[in-house]
Amino acid sequence: MQQVESFDLILFGGSGDLALRKLLPALYSRHVAGDLPAHGRIIGVARQAQTREQYIAQVRQHCLLNIDSGLFSEAVFSVFSKRLEYLRIDAGVVSDFEALNSFLKDSAAQVRVFYLSTAPDLFTSICENLAAAKLIHGNSRVVLEKPLGRDLASAQEINARVGRVFDESQIYRIDHYLGKEPVQNLMALRFGNALFEPLWSRSWVHDVQITIAERVGVEKRGDFYDRAGALRDMVQNHLLQLLCIIAMEPPSSIDPDAVRDEKLKVLRGLVPMTAQNVRTSTVRGQYRAGAIDGQPVISYVQEEGISASSTTETFVALKAEINNWRWSGVPFYLRTGKRLQERVAEIVVNFRNVPHSIFPPPKGGIQGNRLIIQLQPEEELKLYLMAKEPGNEMQLKPVHLNLDFSEQFKQRPMDAYERLLMDVIRGKLTLFMRRDELDAAWRWIEPILEAWSASEEKPKPYTAGSWGPAAASALLAHQGSAWPEEG
Ligand code: NAP
Repeated sequence: MQQVESFDLILFGGSGDLALRKLLPALYSRHVAGDLPAHGRIIGVARQAQTREQYIAQVRQHCLLNIDSGLFSEAVFSVFSKRLEYLRIDAGVVSDFEALNSFLKDSAAQVRVFYLSTAPDLFTSICENLAAAKLIHGNSRVVLEKPLGRDLASAQEINARVGRVFDESQIYRIDHYLGKEPVQNLMALRFGNALFEPLWSRSWVHDVQITIAERVGVEKRGDFYDRAGALRDMVQNHLLQLLCIIAMEPPSSIDPDAVRDEKLKVLRGLVPMTAQNVRTSTVRGQYRAGAIDGQPVISYVQEEGISASSTTETFVALKAEINNWRWSGVPFYLRTGKRLQERVAEIVVNFRNVPHSIFPPPKGGIQGNRLIIQLQPEEELKLYLMAKEPGNEMQLKPVHLNLDFSEQFKQRPMDAYERLLMDVIRGKLTLFMRRDELDAAWRWIEPILEAWSASEEKPKPYTAGSWGPAAASALLAHQGSAWPEEG
């Protein structure tokens, strides 16, 4: 138990999907763990008129659904619910913010967190209205959900306007993948052990593959998704952030700017995407009707809110390279898509093969060592090695070592949002993106968007329930590699 300072957490979009499904259950879990102090209030804010009791009932129902049964108890929830409040405020109406002002006026909280879990087009008006209502003080923080902008110019506009009312040190741009336990463990593995460092470069790494595959389609986000697409929704933020954690140089400390400086260098070192690169190194796809788990699935253009002629990509695979001594020539393959065969998020580091084998070739050949950092559906870290099978023959077989040590620590791993919410209250910025990182990511992504929009070619069709267009496999095959499910 590490109790945080007293706080008021104002949750804009407090009745939305993210708040109810993830943020409030995460706060309940930290309450159970004893991390929340006596004065730690959570104020849900949205336009819908409802009483505090109705809001508590809504939160309870979602906690019941989203928290492990062993962790939920009515008695504990009843204590937790005393922290909850609900205010009806339209984010775009400055006079509505007076209600928040009256509510917070006599608060004893040290820290005031404004968590913006609303559509991003409300971010700037919320911040400006908070400033107009004089609700921001030195110990205030703002949390910005993704997506931050739809291109470099719109991201810069949001950052500039938010930056006029909040200092950069008060801005927490969240990417929940960075809060996941295996990503933290990867940092521990890389920077808490000397073992991997000599191997962590072009000399021994053949390629890196980062996949975030979803089985779901666009659900109720059709309208938003059709204007965004997979590149903006997943690659610009989550996939590039994971690439940074794998590729960054050891920072001089765990301080926010030491880590973020190193991540920024990776983003700035990415080989720029020219029109030619986009043709040869990117694949975009869109799902057609198919089946998942034996259930029929409609095509993307038949989904609610999607136009029949939409050319929005629901799948992206691309090859990125980094121009520096450590990584020159090593391909980083990034892939994401909707309606794919499995729900999986993982990073695979493929090490080079042995230069010469003295053993009889096993079935499937000698495989290079492989480090797998799985974020979904399970959180795992595994190292694959070749080992001798028991018996007379010198037969080798790939086996794995479990490196996440959950057995040894015997503790429930923290959900990403639990960790990140506590980090915000504690003022720890290390796992949040700095403004220049966001700019650098958009600078790299923009030429891809431009080349795609200038191209006559449409996204390649793939069947729902498959692993995406065949061209995504070809991207790796000509460099002697394969996606994990093909290997
Ligand atoms: P959502 O379900 O549509 O919820 C939106 C929330 O904002 C609702 O509580 C809504 O309540 C409130 N709202 C809308 N307009 C408002 C206004 N003018 N003033 C005050 N409140 C307003 O959206 P969501 O899925 O939770 O997503 C929220 C944000 O998180 C988005 O930026 C999204 O991209 C991001 N995000 C979501 C997820 C996820 O899993 N859902 C994951 C990652 C990031 P009222 O209509 O009653 O006002």
